[in-house]
Amino acid sequence: MFADLHLHSHYSDGTYTAAEVAEEARKHGLKAISLTDHDTVEGCESVGAECRSRGLEFITGVELTAEFDGDELHLLGYFVDTQSLELLGELAKYQLVRQNRVREMVARLNKMGIPLTADAVFALAKCRSPGRPHVGRALVQAGICSSLDQAFERFLKKHRPAWVPKFKMSAEAGIGIIHRAGGLAVMAHPGLNHCDGAIPGMVAAGLDGMECFHSKHTVDTAAYYLEVAVNHGLLVTGGSDCHGMNKGKPTMGQVRLPYAYIEKMYARMAEISNGAIIKPQVEQSA
Ligand code: AMP
Ligand code: FE
Ligand code: FE
Ligand code: ZN
Repeated sequence: MFADLHLHSHYSDGTYTAAEVAEEARKHGLKAISLTDHDTVEGCESVGAECRSRGLEFITGVELTAEFDGDELHLLGYFVDTQSLELLGELAKYQLVRQNRVREMVARLNKMGIPLTADAVFALAKCRSPGRPHVGRALVQAGICSSLDQAFERFLKKHRPAWVPKFKMSAEAGIGIIHRAGGLAVMAHPGLNHCDGAIPGMVAAGLDGMECFHSKHTVDTAAYYLEVAVNHGLLVTGGSDCHGMNKGKPTMGQVRLPYAYIEKMYARMAEISNGAIIKPQVEQSA
């Protein structure tokens, strides 16, 4: 019994629809998944419904972008109340930051003589939470770049000509937003962000868990962060960070989080919600 707690859909920069996320998860034999789109919980309702109709457990989720000491880090929020007005208000703020950033990235491209419009990016993104991958896909669609990789290499990576820094919340603020929405705050893919210095401060701010297992973590990286998690008394999570097909291959299924870790998350939720949040009884389909 396995889970994948890090998945994206077309509600942010993933390519799968709600049904495709759930169907891929079913095909990979997963028992539970979470949807963790960037700065939005819009997809949770439909992915949740698609999961339930397939006998899969669904945990609400979101991925926030935060910073510590000038470095970017990502926070995952699990079991968040997707109707929480404070959460929705905060997400709307960061969605606006993303939309304005797309306009700024396009303006930079235009200054270099590249004839892309922000509307073309928005038309392709069709979501409230657009990001660099949408600008990259628009560059590919317009024939300016040959692949998304090339678009990042030439224009979109940090310090490349069309890169625009994004206004970010502090890690402590992000943990607070997740907690006030009733969720568990987890440090995403620590091996990718090189922000270990932030860990003690985040633990002091109430960090609940660490994403030790991630498709871009090596076995050694996972082992290292497992030790860090144990030393700080943190829950352990993991996920593929699937954004759809990647160079013809699905990323889902690359990380299979043993279900025992999900049980621990439910136990923590039962504790902090005085028993209000308990593990759902889902009938497993054949
Ligand atoms: P943003 O949130 O707009 O800064 O974009 C970050 C997103 O871009 C990440 O979540 C990934 O989905 C994607 N990404 C980052 N680096 C690359 C890359 N080199 N190639 C393709 N996608 C990338
Ligand atoms: Fe992404
Ligand atoms: Fe991330
Ligand atoms: Zn992600």
